[in-house]
Amino acid sequence: MRADVHTHTTFSDGSELSAMIGAASDAGLDALGLTDHCIVTDDAFGRRAQYDLVETYERRREVIEATRERVDLTLYDAAEVCYVESETDATEAFLETAGFDYTIGSVHFADAYDYTSDVPYVGESDEFRRAAVERYYDAVVGLVESELFDVLGHLDLPERLETLRGHSHREDYERVAAALADSRTVPELNAGRINRTLGRPHPDPSMFDPFDDRGVGFVLGSDSHRPDELTDRVPVLRELVAEADIEPLGIDDLLG
Ligand SMILES: [Zn+2]
Ligand SMILES: [Zn+2]
Repeated sequence: MRADVHTHTTFSDGSELSAMIGAASDAGLDALGLTDHCIVTDDAFGRRAQYDLVETYERRREVIEATRERVDLTLYDAAEVCYVESETDATEAFLETAGFDYTIGSVHFADAYDYTSDVPYVGESDEFRRAAVERYYDAVVGLVESELFDVLGHLDLPERLETLRGHSHREDYERVAAALADSRTVPELNAGRINRTLGRPHPDPSMFDPFDDRGVGFVLGSDSHRPDELTDRVPVLRELVAEADIEPLGIDDLLG
C-alpha cells in the first residue's frame, strides 16, 4: 500500500480536502492520512488559538466519512498532536475521547524554546543553541517513552532552522533510536523541507544507521499543506527510500 501518513487540510493550516485527495491520486497513493494540527492545551506560543481541531475534529470526521463514500483512496482520520510534557494526562484523556485512527506526536516547543522559528536564536551563542537542541531531544525521548502516539513526527526538527542547523549530533539520533527500539511509536521520514531550506528529509539520511542497526522502520510523511507539495514530495520520498534500501512501513503497521 502506498501511503502518505502526514498531510494538512483546512481544519488546520492546509488546503481543501478534495484538492489534497486529488493530489494523492495523481501521486499514485492508495492511502492518505489527514493529520491536522491538534493542540490539546494552551501554550505560551499561541498555537492553541491558531489550531482548534480539539473543537472541530467531529465536524472534520463527518466530512471525512462523507468523502470516503465517493473516493477509492483510503482516508485516515488522524492528527498531528503537539507533545507537551507537563500536559500528558490531558493529552491522553483527549486522545482517548477523540479516537483518531492514529496520531503523530510532534515536539514543536519545549519550555521557553520554540523550534518553529529562527527568531529566538538570532544573536545567541552556540552554547545557547546547543542547549536548545539538547532540550528538544529530551522532549522527543519523553514523547517516545510516553507511548501516547503511533508516529514520531519530523524527528530532527531543529535542523529545519538556519540558526539551529548542525547542532544535532550523532549522540542525539542514537538516543532517539534507542528509545524508539523499545517503543510502539515509529518515526516518520518527513519531507516537509525536502525541496526548500533544508533540502533533505527529517531525519538526516546520514543518520539512518542508528535506526537501521536497531531495526527501527519508518513511515513516509510528506507533511504537505498544499496539493502541489504532495505531488512534488511523494516521488522524492519514494526515491529516497529506494536509494537507502529502506522498506517503508505502511499505515496498517500503525493500526496493528
Ligand atoms: Zn509539525
Ligand atoms: Zn505537519
